[in-house]
Amino acid sequence: MHLLIVGGSDAGISAGLRARELAPDTQVTLVIADAFANYSICGLPFFLSGEVPDWRSLAHRSLAELESAGLRLLFNTTAERIEPARRLLHVRDQSGARELAYDRLILGTGAAPICPPIPGINLPGVFPLHTMQDSFALDEHVKTKQCSTALVVGGGYIGLEMADALRTRGLDVTLVELAPTVLQTVDASLGELVRAELERHCVRVLTGAKVERFRATDGHIVATGTPNLEVCADVVVVALGVAPANSLARDAGLELGARGGIKVSRRMETTAADIYAAGDCVETWHRVLRAPAYIPLGTTAHKQGRIAGENAVGGAREFAGTLGTQVVKVFDRVSARTGLRHDEAVAAGFTPFTSEFTCWDHKVYYPKAHEMRVRVTGDRETGLLLGAQMLGHVHSEVGKRIDVFASALFHGSRVEELEQLDLSYTPPFSSPWDPVQMSAQSWVAAAKF
Ligand SMILES: Cc1cc2nc3c(=O)[nH]c(=O)nc-3n(C[C@H](O)[C@H](O)[C@H](O)COP(=O)(O)OP(=O)(O)OC[C@H]3O[C@@H](n4cnc5c(N)ncnc54)[C@H](O)[C@@H]3O)c2cc1C
Repeated sequence: MHLLIVGGSDAGISAGLRARELAPDTQVTLVIADAFANYSICGLPFFLSGEVPDWRSLAHRSLAELESAGLRLLFNTTAERIEPARRLLHVRDQSGARELAYDRLILGTGAAPICPPIPGINLPGVFPLHTMQDSFALDEHVKTKQCSTALVVGGGYIGLEMADALRTRGLDVTLVELAPTVLQTVDASLGELVRAELERHCVRVLTGAKVERFRATDGHIVATGTPNLEVCADVVVVALGVAPANSLARDAGLELGARGGIKVSRRMETTAADIYAAGDCVETWHRVLRAPAYIPLGTTAHKQGRIAGENAVGGAREFAGTLGTQVVKVFDRVSARTGLRHDEAVAAGFTPFTSEFTCWDHKVYYPKAHEMRVRVTGDRETGLLLGAQMLGHVHSEVGKRIDVFASALFHGSRVEELEQLDLSYTPPFSSPWDPVQMSAQSWVAAAKF
C-alpha cells in the first residue's frame, strides 16, 4: 500500500510515523513544499530572540531519524492538484511536473498567515512569521540593516511572542492591536495584565489602532492608520492570525467546514474516499461545544496527524476533541486558557458564571512567591466546568496548572470536584490547597452552587 502525505510538519510527520509504526510494510511518501521536515515552528520566536541560537536545534527529529523510520521525503516539491477519481496527486519540483499515485492520501498542508490587502504589506522589511524561511528572512533583515526599531502588528500570541523576542534582542518595539486590549483569547482583565507586562519591558502598546498603509521612507517603514496612527520602524512583523491552507482540497471538490477548514469526521476522513486530513488545514471537533471549530494549534496537529496515519492503514480511532488549551509566555508573565470563556459559553447556549480569584502561587513564607490570577467559568445549572484562564509569573507553573483544568474538563468534571483532586504540595511550589482548587472553591461559593 502506498500512503502519500502532503506536508512535512506536525500533522504530516505524525501521520507518517504512526502509519509505519502500525503497518511497517506501508510505503510512506511525504511531499513537502520546502526543505524543512519536522521543525518546531512554535520555536521560531525563540530563535529570533536569540534564546535558541541555532535554528537547527528546532528540529523535532533529524532527517536520519525520519528516514530510518521508513519515511520517504520529497523536499521542495509542491502538490498542485488532486485527482480523487484516479487516486493521483499532481506535484511539481525543480525538474518539472509529475504524477504520484496513491492508495491513501493524507493532507497536512497547515495554515497560511492572514495577509490583508493593506497597501505596502509586501514591501521589503515587512514580514509574516509562519515558516522557517520567514524567520530566516526576518533574522537576515534585522542583522544586515542593523535594525533598532520594530513594529509588531497584531496582539495575538504570535505578535506577543515576537514583541518579547525583538525586545529581548535589543530593539525598541511598538505593538499595534485593533481590539481594546491584547491577547483576545483571554478576558480583558488578564489581557490588561499582559499589556502591563509589555509596558514594564518598554514595549509601546497601541490598542484600538488600525494600520491602513505601509510606505518605505529612507530605509524605514512607516505605518499609518487610525486614529492618527503613525509609527516608523526598521522592521515590521505582521501577525494577524492564520487561515487554513485549503486550496488543494477545495479544488479537488472536498467539502470545507468551520472557517474554511477542510471538513473531516472525527476519524480525520475528508468527504472524498481514501483522503484524510489533519492539523491546521482542518476544522477541529470541540469537546465542550460538541461541534466543529477552527483552533489551529501544534498540540492538535500532532494528535490529529497520528489518528489520520493510524486510520489510513486500517484503524478506526476517533479524535477526542480539542479544548483549545494554550499557553503563552510574555517576558516574565505567562497566560493560559482552556475550554470556553464566559462570552463563548453564553454564545454556545450555556448559563455560565465566571469568578476571578487572586492567590499566591506557593506558600508566601517561602521566597519568591508571586500572585496569580485565575478565572473559572462553570455552568450555573449543572455545575460543570466550562473553562479556565490564568495569568501568573513565569515560575508559577501556569501552563501545568491550566493542564489540571484541561484534564478535569476533558473528563467532564463539575467545578466542585476539583476540590477533591489529590494534587501535590510542598511550600516552595504550592499550598495545601493548590491555586486550581482555591479558585474552584471560590467559584462554588460565589456561584452559590
Ligand atoms: C510562530 C509560531 C508559534 C507557534 N507557537 C505555538 C505554540 O506555542 N503552541 C502550539 O500548540 N502551537 C503553536 N503554533 C502553531 C503550530 O505551529 C501549528 O498549529 C502547527 O505547526 C500545525 O502543523 P501542521 O502540520 O498542521 O501545519 P504546518 O506546520 O503549517 O505545516 C504545513 C506543511 O505543509 C507543507 N505544504 C503546504 N502546502 C503544500 C503543498 N501544496 N505541497 C507540499 N507541501 C505543502 C508545508 O511546507 C509544511 O511542511 C505556532 C505557530 C507559529 C507560526
